[in-house]
Amino acid sequence: MTKSADLFQKAKKYIPGGVNSPVRSYGDFDFAPPFIKKGEGVWIYDVEGNKYLDYVLSWGPLIVGHAHPKVLQAVRETAAKGTSFGAPAELEIDLARMIVEMVPGIDKVRMVNSGTESVMSAVRLARGYTGKDKIIKMTGCYHGHSDGLLVEAGSGPAELSIPGSPGVPASYAGETISVPYNDRQAVKEAFTEFNNDIAAVLLEPVPANMGVILPRDGYLQFLRDITKDRDSLLIFDEVITGFRVARGGVQELYDIQPDLTCLGKIIGGGLPVGAFGGNSSVMSEIAPEGAVYQAGTLSGNPLAMAAGKATLNLLRKDEVYEELSSRTDYLTEQMKKIASVKDIPVQIHSLPGLFSLFFTEQKVYSRQEVKQVDRELFRKYFKKMLAEGIYLAPSVFESSFLSLYHEREQLDYTLEKYRKVLREI
Ligand SMILES: *Cc1c(COP(=O)(O)O)cnc(C)c1O
Repeated sequence: MTKSADLFQKAKKYIPGGVNSPVRSYGDFDFAPPFIKKGEGVWIYDVEGNKYLDYVLSWGPLIVGHAHPKVLQAVRETAAKGTSFGAPAELEIDLARMIVEMVPGIDKVRMVNSGTESVMSAVRLARGYTGKDKIIKMTGCYHGHSDGLLVEAGSGPAELSIPGSPGVPASYAGETISVPYNDRQAVKEAFTEFNNDIAAVLLEPVPANMGVILPRDGYLQFLRDITKDRDSLLIFDEVITGFRVARGGVQELYDIQPDLTCLGKIIGGGLPVGAFGGNSSVMSEIAPEGAVYQAGTLSGNPLAMAAGKATLNLLRKDEVYEELSSRTDYLTEQMKKIASVKDIPVQIHSLPGLFSLFFTEQKVYSRQEVKQVDRELFRKYFKKMLAEGIYLAPSVFESSFLSLYHEREQLDYTLEKYRKVLREI
């Protein structure tokens, strides 16, 4: 038995399923996930002593790679002065100011402890601000595991959702209307059917939790227009895409300004964090300025603020996103070429720092289409890439990530392994 398999068995004795978040369990596979011992730059090392080129990066936060010296130094220096005060501290202003300066749609921002919390709070704020109850959500977008957002689409387009998990009351799910991503008609129908009770349209503007799905031309502008027109808010969940696809996220890249933006992952530099922000008039409704209640014992935690600040500091230079973009393009264009030479149909979707691969000939615009891709082939591909030391997201519904330090040399190394794996599957 491998050490990882042994640890996985032990872990299962004390932790449900052996993991603290389900995706880590490699549920699609018949082998134990590698237990990771350490990370350094773009590499991670498991307990066996295997080394992997990491394209998961803790599911996105580590855009500057593992154990970046500047991030570690910031955490060490901050920790030496105490780990939490439950009182205001200057570091909170520093990170808030950087976020406000870099994200177009944010004038004021509130820190929380996770992406889940960030979306949960933004939704409450949208309801409090508009005085309306229902939320339109796109099927396949993930917004954390809060009750009202852990839902599945009902039977038709633009219908009330049903619980996505036991434990979610049908009445909570019923406050959410699920529509397919990229489907304008379904959004129009939802507005017509539930007229005057839509507090917000909530989405990952470029979904990355059903693989990467790109918006059809004009789709995001359409959502901006219809929400403005019907007095409801547009909420972009940029927990993954914020500070990744561009410094200011999808809203900068596509030049569409939402009313509220949810952040997480990168802004904590690998420590637990989330944040939500928007224009001053909406944000003023949050307690203690306004009446919508929201709070957190560890919110604005000094270690998380310090790690986030150190990370965002490394993202200040203009070249950073140009390089991330050209490296992502290089990797994904070569991947497409290699697949086409071998006559293997693939759709590879990407934005800077973010990509996913579907084994299919069809264009993929929504989760309905992701469900039709060849998952058996994907499993073979993933397993062999892992054996070759390339650590990718273990499901067609997850995306893979690049850091600033995935250099050309490592991309070529990846492509060499990829070529070999496509030959074998
Ligand atoms: C990861 C993620 C979340 C949830 O964040 P957690 O920190 O895991 O709670 C929310 N929305 C999106 C788009 C995410 O990718």
